[in-house]
Amino acid sequence: TNLREIDRMKSEFLSTAAHELRTPLTSIQGFSEILLTRENLDENERKKYLSYINRQAVKLAKIVGDLLDVARIESGKGFTINRENCSLEKLFSDVVPYFENLSLKQRFEVCLPGKPVSFFADINLMEQVMKNLLSNAIKYSPGGGIIKISGDEDNGFVSVSVEDQGIGMKPEQKDRIFEKFYRVDASDTAPEGTGLGMTIVKYIVEKHGGKIWIDSELGKGTKVHFTIPIKEFYNRDLQ
Ligand code: ATP
Ligand code: MG
Repeated sequence: TNLREIDRMKSEFLSTAAHELRTPLTSIQGFSEILLTRENLDENERKKYLSYINRQAVKLAKIVGDLLDVARIESGKGFTINRENCSLEKLFSDVVPYFENLSLKQRFEVCLPGKPVSFFADINLMEQVMKNLLSNAIKYSPGGGIIKISGDEDNGFVSVSVEDQGIGMKPEQKDRIFEKFYRVDASDTAPEGTGLGMTIVKYIVEKHGGKIWIDSELGKGTKVHFTIPIKEFYNRDLQ
């Protein structure tokens, strides 16, 4: 029965993955066909269709990247972590402005202590974590509001939180958020996503020796917290 369960999970994984890939692929197919078959397109129209294709290709690349990440996690191979000196200031300033430009309705607030906070972690993976948390904060607060990004140092750990004033979740929904492919709203009208982001985020945080948890209230908003040890884990890893 254990093997049967694994088989079931594999086919569920495959069908969800294939379904997610189909949407951007269909657009790419459609828009490239227009470009190939319509003869009297002006320069602006051509550019418009090419930018659609480009945007869908970027989406496709993200989905495939996330699928590969989850496959790597599930196979037990995981990620290689290359720790280096990071600072919270740099992490935030590398990631936040991009999302600030992207969001029309939300206002961003960054909250850091007066002194610099540095820690030892894989910068690319930390950015991957922040990107998913910020994109979630935007996607799931369609009515706007403030997105507050806080960072601090506490007892050998850096702690980070991302808080939104969005749609929030019921407790039983919140409890499932780290499951792969889980989405509270999986309908066609839901914001885009595959439900893999938080699975990967949790893996990255825990792989660094940290913890992640969520406070959320339906209709009020969500706050995601995580911690990463500043350096102890690094020493232990070397032994
Ligand atoms: P992607 O794989 O592109 O990140 P996703 O955003 O749907 O897709 P996750 O980031 O794993 O997937 O989040 C899983 C689900 O948890 C979301 O679909 C959403 O229902 C819920 N969720 C996550 N963050 C929030 C938030 N800040 N507010 C409300 N719901 C959230
Ligand atoms: Mg997400």
